[in-house]
Amino acid sequence: MNVTVTGAGGQIGYALLFRLASGQLLGPDTPINLRLLEIPQGLAAAEGTALELADCAFGLLASTTITDDLTQAFDGVNVALLVGSRPRAAGMERADLLAANGRIFGPQGAAINAGAASDVRVLVVGNPANTNALIARSHAPDVPADRFTAMTRLDHNRAVAQLAAHFDVSVTAIEGVAIWGNHSASQYPDVFHATVRLKSGERCFVRDLVDERWLAAEFIPRVAQRGSEIIAVRGASSAASAAGAALDHVHDWANSTPSGAGQWTSAAVVSDGSYGVPEGLISSFPVRSVAGHWRIEPGLEIAEFSRARIDASVAELVAERDAVAALGLL
Ligand code: NDP
Repeated sequence: MNVTVTGAGGQIGYALLFRLASGQLLGPDTPINLRLLEIPQGLAAAEGTALELADCAFGLLASTTITDDLTQAFDGVNVALLVGSRPRAAGMERADLLAANGRIFGPQGAAINAGAASDVRVLVVGNPANTNALIARSHAPDVPADRFTAMTRLDHNRAVAQLAAHFDVSVTAIEGVAIWGNHSASQYPDVFHATVRLKSGERCFVRDLVDERWLAAEFIPRVAQRGSEIIAVRGASSAASAAGAALDHVHDWANSTPSGAGQWTSAAVVSDGSYGVPEGLISSFPVRSVAGHWRIEPGLEIAEFSRARIDASVAELVAERDAVAALGLL
């Protein structure tokens, strides 16, 4: 399998590549050709990482290519992890950020369209992830739209971990959490369908054990602002947890999720119009992976508390889409 990682010389790349090459992405029987894409000033860092990858003597790592050439990076790619993006600099307007990223993700989408394998799966991690994925997808008309996704699995994992800590149970006791909307501060971590298996062994709905004040004042901000909390405490942005979530996303996409009630996960996928999210937007939903495809979980009742929050995050996605369309990036 050909796996391409962009921004491979960065922090997330460093946390991602060793786990990927050890088999945690595609399993212990799948050899990997790694393609590390960087911008010219990032190539040395990617080369350093590649030297360490060689020193790990991973049996599954068939080859490692380091390049700043899009055609070489995406030729025959099966899995594309688009991590590198332009961070927001001080004083940068949102339109400038979207335009800078449009110049990155448009050409990457076109290169995927031209060279990728027919089964390509694309995960965008670099922010603004949903809209970057939308831009890439719009430049890849020959690739099925559902192959373009953006990462909200880190938000999902953070929500699960926060609930597990709140109830003092293992993360395996929590099911049915969903992240809706944009991977941004407006995201909505939804617990209205979530359940917890308490220490007594009884499984209860989370909504029966917490009140809306706790959700609005503590849980939702804690999940949505976890990235800032990590920067404040660690002195650097989260990298290992972002890398872990990227592995979770692609692993589940390729291997299916369990079929039990509430055993879905969250991913930003192309909307089919479900739950009032405009068709074509790349928005986070509760999803299951079935036979290699993400399926939006149908038929969930949306509480009034949730509706307003989903709508607000989706409105932000619509505004981002309209802004990049106005810039001619779609
Ligand atoms: P990181 O590896 O820490 O982050 C990469 C991107 O992931 C950032 O845009 C970041 O957005 C985003 N991200 C998403 N979720 C998270 C999360 N939970 N925590 C942290 N970041 C998250 O950035 P570095 O600066 O260390 O590395 C970026 C690399 O990308 C550099 O080596 C650069 O040269 C390269 N690059 C490559 C490009 C290419 O291949 N064409 C294009 C642009 C850059 P945010 O900061 O907004 O959270």
